[in-house]
Amino acid sequence: MVDINWSITSARTRASIFQHIHRTLNLFERIWHINVFCLSKLWYVAQILPLPTKYSKVLDRAISFYVWKGYFYKLPKTQLHLPTTKGGLQLIAVKEKSQALLTRNILRAKQGESDPMGNKFWQKHIPLLCSKTTILSQSLKIIWEAIESYSPTIATNDKNQNTKIIYTYLMKKNVQIPRIMEKFPNQRWGNIWRNMHMANIPTAWKTTVYCYLNQIIPTEEKRHRHNLTDSTACKKCGWLDTLKHRVTNCGAAKTIWEAAKALLVKIWPDSQLHDWFQTLLVLDPPTKQNKFVTVWLASGFLHYQLTKPLHKIEEFLHMLKEEAARLETKDDKLSQILKELRLLELNS
Ligand SMILES: [Zn+2]
Repeated sequence: MVDINWSITSARTRASIFQHIHRTLNLFERIWHINVFCLSKLWYVAQILPLPTKYSKVLDRAISFYVWKGYFYKLPKTQLHLPTTKGGLQLIAVKEKSQALLTRNILRAKQGESDPMGNKFWQKHIPLLCSKTTILSQSLKIIWEAIESYSPTIATNDKNQNTKIIYTYLMKKNVQIPRIMEKFPNQRWGNIWRNMHMANIPTAWKTTVYCYLNQIIPTEEKRHRHNLTDSTACKKCGWLDTLKHRVTNCGAAKTIWEAAKALLVKIWPDSQLHDWFQTLLVLDPPTKQNKFVTVWLASGFLHYQLTKPLHKIEEFLHMLKEEAARLETKDDKLSQILKELRLLELNS
């Protein structure tokens, strides 16, 4: 029964993911689409029947293919599952969420609260599970062992018996620090991730910034390190092609870098060289003043530098002004922010 149900459900979910493969959504939109739309149909089955590993693997593969379509370098799924404050994108982990839903129901049934299957399935089977001489499937036994291994607060406290807490508990068991945070442990990553996820910054900008911060943009230097090309030279100008080169130094990109610094000085007059680097290249402005507008400017700057083939100052300022105008019409609570944004209107 478990196998037939999951075979049908996972095939349907997979089809619903692939149905949207040709839509031009960015990384953030794709993850939202998976979390809210594609996976929602799974959870009804997941709270009743244990999800066999072979189907969770099939689903993980489909999700990864969809999320990373068009990308040369990818991040591990363990990172995408992390909370946004820890360098992830809060992509729901199918296996753990399924386990959390089922666990919640078993715990509820154990206390005689409710039985989602309506046929006393769990009440009948709990004594068998507890007796350990059960003829039940291996996957149920694994879940039962997991329940028994939980800290007493999860197993006995009513308040803790909701799916979210069980899910968080399961996710914490195999938490991994993103590679980039291990590589640069001295950066204030908590600030950087929080800034990157700030509300009212377009997801297209956030997508570029996320790839930039994680260094998964295929520069010639990176490709050379992986033996994918003979030379580290920039295809446009012949210099060493690194991310820093692309955003600050490559041909006309240099004029955009100068413009972005000039804009930053308008918002923050007494800022110094170190502040410009820390704001525009690291997304961690060393000031609390005008936080939104500095992060907004840095995100727009990085997005423009890394996605537009020609670096034209008019085009860059036009992109910023258009986005600022969009914010203005959206919500009058933004008036404070907009006052700061008007500073950006250079006489170009
Ligand atoms: Zn170059």
